[in-house]
Amino acid sequence: MSHTRIPYENLKALNKPFEEAFKSKFNDFLNSGWYILGNEVSEFEKEFANYHNEQYVVGVANGLDALILSLKCCNFKKGDEVIVPSNTYIASILAILQCDLVPVFVEPNMETYNIDPKKIEEAITSKTVAIMVVHLYGQCCEMDPIIKLTQQHDLKIVEDCAQAHGAEYKGKPTGTFGDYGCFSFYPTKNLGALGDAGAIICKTEEDYVKLRQLRNYGSEKKYHNGIIGYNSRLDEVQASFLRVKLPYLNDINNHKKALASIYQSNLNHNFIKPVIDSNFNNVYHIYNIRHKERDRLKIYLSENNIDTEIHYPVAPHKQKALKQLNNLSYPISEEIHATTLSLPCSFAHTADDIYKVVEILNQFN
Ligand SMILES: *Cc1c(COP(=O)(O)O)cnc(C)c1O
Repeated sequence: MSHTRIPYENLKALNKPFEEAFKSKFNDFLNSGWYILGNEVSEFEKEFANYHNEQYVVGVANGLDALILSLKCCNFKKGDEVIVPSNTYIASILAILQCDLVPVFVEPNMETYNIDPKKIEEAITSKTVAIMVVHLYGQCCEMDPIIKLTQQHDLKIVEDCAQAHGAEYKGKPTGTFGDYGCFSFYPTKNLGALGDAGAIICKTEEDYVKLRQLRNYGSEKKYHNGIIGYNSRLDEVQASFLRVKLPYLNDINNHKKALASIYQSNLNHNFIKPVIDSNFNNVYHIYNIRHKERDRLKIYLSENNIDTEIHYPVAPHKQKALKQLNNLSYPISEEIHATTLSLPCSFAHTADDIYKVVEILNQFN
């Protein structure tokens, strides 16, 4: 146990390369005296749109709000059904519930951990209005069959891209497949702010205008309220920090991909590793492995000075807050939740850190 502790994540170290630029941005901000919805927000929106080769981006307060405002934008009726994967972060489900809609769970594919396109059709009813895809762990969902289904059944697509900034399916980035691409810039995400922040990519001018109203009291013109809105604006300071980091998003992703490939080529067969498929450009927001003795493995690593996380220990339908769903059964999801372990794989980690983790993992028995 000669090495120093390897943390799961280290936000201070992760942001260290950007510190001088952040300070200079903050100085400009202080000097400007303009604190809400200023130039930094609108420039970030343009730059984030350009990154995706898209036209319309609306900055919002966080990732959960990005999902909620997108669903609100659709004017669905109370009780309408939204298909969502059974293994996702709780935010995806909360957004649906907060809009008085009904989440209908579909199991993931065991190899991609993302919603299984083959199981979607049987979940579609006369009340289904949308599919919320979640690009989990940094890997884009298999979008071709999903898009085909939404065309056949006239459904909206809301993409939860909180874990997959810059990830691609067949060369096209997440957030550009659906009607709404919803992003979180929570500090740990691949593109992370220094606080809460989020954004939505949308496809039509009509939605663009409406989302801008929804985030700002339903108002486009000050004190004139066209619709019932919220206060969910992207913060000006966070936008300025995001503008510093966006040009390095591909570097951040490439760093995480390089670390993931060290695990992929060096971990022994004791562990179930992510399945690589050339159609998918995985940006490894989370690098996970699976093991039937996950809890013992986590303790073993901790005893050997390596921190890990579990994404996630409890499936959404088993959460106390979602009592009405507790009796449902999603065996694939439950199996993932019982066996998955997330390994250190941050922009702040070095290749040496990862080789150390590999060495210790390969001695587990
Ligand atoms: C982080 C995350 C969110 C929520 O983002 P916030 O900015 O924390 O609101 C939503 N969905 C997924 C899958 C996430 O990982």
